[in-house]
Amino acid sequence: MWKIIFIVELLVNACIAFTGFYIISKIIHSTRFSSYAVKSLIIGLATGLLGVVLMFKGIQVNDSLRMDLRHLPLVLLAFYGNRFPLVVATLIIAGSRFLFGVTPQAFIAFVSIIAISTGMIWIHRQLLNRPFRQNLALNVWALLMITFAVLINLGFNDASLRLLLATWTIGLAVGVLSSMLTLDFQTLNRQVELYKQSSERDHLTGLYNRRVWDTRTAGLEQEGRIYNVLALDIDHFKHVNDTYGHGNGDFVLQQFANILMEETRPHDITVRIGGEEFMILIYDLTPSKIIKVANRIRERIAHERFQLDGFPDITVTASIGIAHGKQIHIQHMNGLADEALYTAKQQGRNRTILFNQLDQQSIAASHSSTETRI
Ligand code: GH3
Ligand code: MG
Ligand code: MG
Repeated sequence: MWKIIFIVELLVNACIAFTGFYIISKIIHSTRFSSYAVKSLIIGLATGLLGVVLMFKGIQVNDSLRMDLRHLPLVLLAFYGNRFPLVVATLIIAGSRFLFGVTPQAFIAFVSIIAISTGMIWIHRQLLNRPFRQNLALNVWALLMITFAVLINLGFNDASLRLLLATWTIGLAVGVLSSMLTLDFQTLNRQVELYKQSSERDHLTGLYNRRVWDTRTAGLEQEGRIYNVLALDIDHFKHVNDTYGHGNGDFVLQQFANILMEETRPHDITVRIGGEEFMILIYDLTPSKIIKVANRIRERIAHERFQLDGFPDITVTASIGIAHGKQIHIQHMNGLADEALYTAKQQGRNRTILFNQLDQQSIAASHSSTETRI
């Protein structure tokens, strides 16, 4: 009879552990949280809760002995190297042991949980590049600490040996299985992230690519918001390639892209459309404000010293065409921005031209940031 109860409880505990691991891993890999602190706290609380559930559920080894898997969620966090959540979860799991009574045994269990987490932080650092070994070492360390706690609490006798045998067998089996689950999850997430990255990002500059531009701008005409499309093109870039080599041209493009990233905000969409042509989508700004932004970018580029390999630093300039409008199809806005860019090139380069679709007028803002209407 005990054996059946034992197996059922073992399966129930393993299911709870695996489900909890799945949910916590999902939170760990989630990119939806805007605050890192909130995310860490939620991970810590969820892991602590899982440990407490596992502790209360427990597994009846025989009519007088119980074991539990409360340490496994801590192994998971140590493996991911999430220190703050690990501290939160450790305190929750260690502290809630006193709910069973404030006894010397509870105090020893409390200390053993603290020792498990402290040691695991060290192990994680030592075996950072060996995920499977690390996971195994984390599990073994946790079981060793539990062994000490059991021996101190129960002494070295038949009962404690039986409990330890069950704890090691089940702890290692569920621990290793969950380690494999965690590793698979991590590998899968890394691959997905990598594929997403390579399908969305331009390989040379790390900016978004044209595909992202097309998906993010599709349907803009249905939104009620004013939006600005900026088309940027480096002036006489062929000259850079011809004089300093294609490799140096690439290097300039990378530095140029970094400037665009620094000068735009995270919710602007900055892409490399191809070659030395870039687009930026900026919502809401009025014509005079968007010209100020464009000129700030343009002037930053003009004043930047671009490093080259084997040559002294150079300066480059860029021309910017802007389409400002509302409820207009993106293709049309792209065309208007390109026309404005073409005008900027024709008027001598290193300047900004804005076409305001709302009043069908162009605004030219030349080298200085002063605006002149044409
Ligand atoms: P303009 O002021 O009229 O824009 O002159 P430009 O020389 O910049 O214009 P053009 O479009 O004729 O030249 C763009 C050059 O950009 C041509 C091409 O060799 C170079 N180019 C395109 N893609 C890359 C790239 O990925 N790396 C490098 N190094 N050069 C590129
Ligand atoms: Mg160019
Ligand atoms: Mg070009």
